[in-house]
Amino acid sequence: MENKKSAAGNIGRDRKKVGRAGRRKAPSGYGGVRPKKGLGQNFLIDEGVIDAIAGGCGADAGALVIEIGPGTGALTLPLTERAGFLAAVELDDSLIEPLRVKTFGAGNVKIIHEDILKLDIDSLISELKDEYKLESVRVVGNLPYYITTPIIMKLLEEAEGIDSITVMMQKEVADRISAEPGERLAGAITYSVHYYAEVSKVVDVPRECFYPVPNVDSEVLRLDIRKEPAVRTEDADFMFKCIKTGFSQRRKTLLNSLSAMEGTNKEKVAKALFASGIEENRRAETLSLAEFAKLADILREE
Ligand code: SAM
Repeated sequence: MENKKSAAGNIGRDRKKVGRAGRRKAPSGYGGVRPKKGLGQNFLIDEGVIDAIAGGCGADAGALVIEIGPGTGALTLPLTERAGFLAAVELDDSLIEPLRVKTFGAGNVKIIHEDILKLDIDSLISELKDEYKLESVRVVGNLPYYITTPIIMKLLEEAEGIDSITVMMQKEVADRISAEPGERLAGAITYSVHYYAEVSKVVDVPRECFYPVPNVDSEVLRLDIRKEPAVRTEDADFMFKCIKTGFSQRRKTLLNSLSAMEGTNKEKVAKALFASGIEENRRAETLSLAEFAKLADILREE
C-alpha cells in the first residue's frame, strides 16, 4: 500500500458495474432491513470497495479481525474468508440474528451485540487472541460518521495490541487526518493520529457506493500503529492539551492561545517558545509534532 495514495484507486463513479449511481431501492439480500438514519446506516453496495477494504486491511490467517458496525454483513463475509477469526460488534438489535444466520457457515465468527464505545476491547482481544492463537489484531469499520473520531481516539489511546485500524470516514475528515502535521489541512486530530500511527489511504469511496446514498463522499484510511510514538514527550496528555488549545483558536498566535491555558501566562509561554526556538507569532497549524512535543515539555516545567 502506498502512503497517502490509493491502492485501489477511484471506485464507483468510473466503473460501469459498480457504484450503481442513484440507486433508490434496497439491494437484494437485505432481508427487508430498513436503514436507520439515527445509527448512521449507509450500507456498502459496491463490490470493488468491499474487496479493496477486505484486501487492504491486513486480514490474514494469523489475524484477529474486529469489525465495527457490520450492518447487514457486506464486509463481514469477505473478512471471514481472510481472517483467522472475526469478532463483529453491532449495536442494532434487529441486525444481530440476520448476521448470525449469514455467517453461520463460516465457523470463525463471533457476532457481539454491543456499543463499541462501551466494549472492553482489551479483554476481547486477549481472550480471542489466546483462544485462537493469533498473532495480529486488525480493526476494520465502516462506522457512522458521528462516532468516527471518538472511536479512532478510543482505539488509539486505550486499546493495547492493535496492529492496524482500517476505517471509512467522510472525505474531509480523511483529508485532515492524512495531512502531515504542519500542513494547511492539519487539525488537532492530525497530530493525535500521527503520534500513534502511520496513515495511508486504502480507497476513495464516492457516495453512490452506499445504500441509501449519503450526502458526502468517503475515503478509507489505514492507520498502522507505531511500535513507539512518533515523538518523545514527558507528558503526552499535556502535549495534546497544548495542541487542542492551539487549534481551538487557530487564528491566534501560539503566544496568545497558550497563555489562556490554566497554569500559564504570557510570560511563561513567551519563555517556553523562545527556549523551543519557535517564533512568538507562529500559529498552531505551522508546528510539527516534534516542535509541539518540545514546547509542551518546556512549558510544563515553567
Ligand atoms: N459495515 C456495514 C456496511 O458497510 O454495509 C454497515 C455500515 S453502517 C455505515 C454503520 C453500522 O454501524 C450500522 O450497522 C450501525 O448499526 C452500526 N453502529 C452504529 N453505532 C454503533 C456503535 N456505537 N457500536 C457498534 N455498531 C454501531
